[in-house]
Amino acid sequence: MAKAKGTWDALIGQDAPVRFLRAALKSGRDAHGYLFEGPAGVGKRTAALLLAKVWLCHQPPEPGEACGECKSCRWIDAAKNGISDHPDLLPVVKYDTQGHPTDKVVGDHEVSIPLATVQYLTQQLHRAPMNGPRRVAIVPEAQRLCRGQAESGNAFLKTLEEPPAGARLIFTSSRPEGLLDTIVSRLQPVRFRRLGAKEIARGLVGGNREAAEIELAVALADGSLGRAKELLDGDLGRWRRQVLQGLDRFTPKDCPAFGLALWALAEQEGKRLFEADELEPDDAAVGADEAGEDGEEDEAVVKTEAGWKRFAFTRLLELCEVAFRDALCAAAAGPDAPLLQADAAKLSGKLAERFGALGCERVLEALREALFATRMYVRGDLVGRVLSGRMADAMVP
Ligand SMILES: [Zn+2]
Repeated sequence: MAKAKGTWDALIGQDAPVRFLRAALKSGRDAHGYLFEGPAGVGKRTAALLLAKVWLCHQPPEPGEACGECKSCRWIDAAKNGISDHPDLLPVVKYDTQGHPTDKVVGDHEVSIPLATVQYLTQQLHRAPMNGPRRVAIVPEAQRLCRGQAESGNAFLKTLEEPPAGARLIFTSSRPEGLLDTIVSRLQPVRFRRLGAKEIARGLVGGNREAAEIELAVALADGSLGRAKELLDGDLGRWRRQVLQGLDRFTPKDCPAFGLALWALAEQEGKRLFEADELEPDDAAVGADEAGEDGEEDEAVVKTEAGWKRFAFTRLLELCEVAFRDALCAAAAGPDAPLLQADAAKLSGKLAERFGALGCERVLEALREALFATRMYVRGDLVGRVLSGRMADAMVP
């Protein structure tokens, strides 16, 4: 087996796609174009970068591996947020209004990939490599090529059909159903799966994070390492403390204000995250804004300001959910109940006393409905107000 530090070790929990890709590379029958499909934040972009690394390596120690030492490998290892300076790894570059390429790339929050960008990519793929054997383009959340008239997608067809020698393409998509069939049929699909809790936790080690915080991020991550990382980067710990403090101070008098305070915090945090996001490209693992098309939205991939506010609100509501799940547990099983937030046992006891098991259940139901309403674009202040009322009703008189 590979003596060199495994090229693919950086990818967590995706053994099947890795096996598949390595076998194809070893036999020399790798495709010219791949479609990496699967939920957001499970490693599609990381895998695309690793495959590009293997394809572009100057001195592969064996087929299917990259040396990790040559200039090409070092370029790719230095990639930030999936973007590298490698001259043969083509960026999904942005155009200005005059039709000139800029030094910016199309961000994940952008709804579509413009035609000019695709024309640039296909043109570049037809040129000879600058530094090695191939030229590679990675197109993240490629369903964005097929919005509206899908002219961007169509502009790719010819290159996909007759790829120039040395040209390689990797499309990633968390919503492959949004891609034209004519594109999908010209790509080799590789499926990525949702990750397990242990795998996500493994991906979060390092850094000085509290174990309780990691555990919570894993619980809220819904199988996506990217989302777990986003939660931790998104000040999950701080939000958690704020939610717990708010619940701790919760009295019948404060009740009406709680939901609104939660929304106010979400607005403030969402605005901050949006502004930070404008300065910095998105996390490599996060996908595109697909909201509005089918009324369904994955809040982990939305990057508009309103989307960030919903993202923060959703996280805060989920944190309340965790607190009330623990409270219900404490109400039903007493002080020795196994809690998700063991460090907040006192608060759980307090809430259990104030709401009782039945009240906790009613609050949980109200929270689930609030989460649903938020996903359905109901205004946050309304959601907060309704939640407050239902929480007040659920308290032990
Ligand atoms: Zn190399």
